[in-house]
Amino acid sequence: MTNITLDSILDRSLLGFNISPSEAVVLLKQTDPESVNAIQETADKLRQRQAGDTVTYVINRNINFTNICEQHCNFCAFRRDDGDTDAYWLNWGQILEKSTDAVRRGATEICMQGGLNPQAQINGSSLPYYIKLVETIKQEFPQLHLHAFSPQEVQFIARLDGISYAEVIIGLRDAGLGSMPGTAAEVLDDQVRKVLCPEKINTETWLEIVSTAHKLGVPTTSTMLSGHIETPEQQVTHLEKLRLLQETAINQGYPAKISEFILLPFVGQEAPKVLRRRVGRDQPVLADALLLTAVARIYLGNYISNHQPSWVKLGLAGATEALTWGCNDIGGTLMEEHITTMAGAIGGTCMEVETLENAISSLNRPYQQRNTLYQFIGNRE
Ligand code: SF4
Repeated sequence: MTNITLDSILDRSLLGFNISPSEAVVLLKQTDPESVNAIQETADKLRQRQAGDTVTYVINRNINFTNICEQHCNFCAFRRDDGDTDAYWLNWGQILEKSTDAVRRGATEICMQGGLNPQAQINGSSLPYYIKLVETIKQEFPQLHLHAFSPQEVQFIARLDGISYAEVIIGLRDAGLGSMPGTAAEVLDDQVRKVLCPEKINTETWLEIVSTAHKLGVPTTSTMLSGHIETPEQQVTHLEKLRLLQETAINQGYPAKISEFILLPFVGQEAPKVLRRRVGRDQPVLADALLLTAVARIYLGNYISNHQPSWVKLGLAGATEALTWGCNDIGGTLMEEHITTMAGAIGGTCMEVETLENAISSLNRPYQQRNTLYQFIGNRE
């Protein structure tokens, strides 16, 4: 591939055209510093055009209500069996306590996900338990945005109760769910999923559940777990599926769509040994994550304008760097983080607002608090 071709791909993307999957693979395979630099510059220009210079953040709190899980994903250091010494399952009082603390610290969002715990039921049904999770928080704090339950959790509830995905989402939405995290996507390629998470929903089901949420007016985010066994071609397959999903939501006039894309580089330090050995390293390779960040901006930016790095996975310095590779948001304060920290991540579990603002200011870019759906809050600039 000559530089003329690389330049023509980048030029066309700057003119507003969508690049093709094979063109995206070309970008991901560039290794010489000059070419990589040109990709970064293009992504940064597109970020500026599509999302502006302001870098946003959200004050939120994670609540992972249980780590008891019936599945055994090969990258997961979080799950436990019921009865393990460090298995936990928060009670209603603990959930309320954490929400109260979050509100006291200025949170506008609770991000809630958990293991797939078959005992999490009320009167023999799963959905009422999840609805009670939503209501417990929303009745006390109606102003909090509840961003909760992955497509995998939706399928789990539907499977246990013998109901449709739509019934689950409607039940949760009507109880006060504000949006759903687009997690459990990992890489939307069934060959990769067979190795990474053989018990999880397949690509088609993930796409179906997210699209159902959009039709029912529940916005979602989108994610990608990168840097393990997947090839550049499979990374692009994933991006293409997200782009088509968002295109459908927009073209069909669904009442909701994807609000952001978050790249989640794989942290393997405490991951189950087989995958850890196969990947052969414990922490993400920053350069790979940054190149993929830039290609994701170029590939998705016409459809998904908000891109966020993960400071938990990359550390704050890595996430700050990603703001110059196509990202326009630095994520949330989280207040506590278990899933990646138990996997051996170095980024920490909590960020103060000031720390995030200082990181953004170090790039001479303005910062701005936002809510979950990217509306600005207050006037902190
Ligand atoms: S990634 Fe989620 S579904 Fe998979 S084992 Fe871990 S907690 Fe369970």
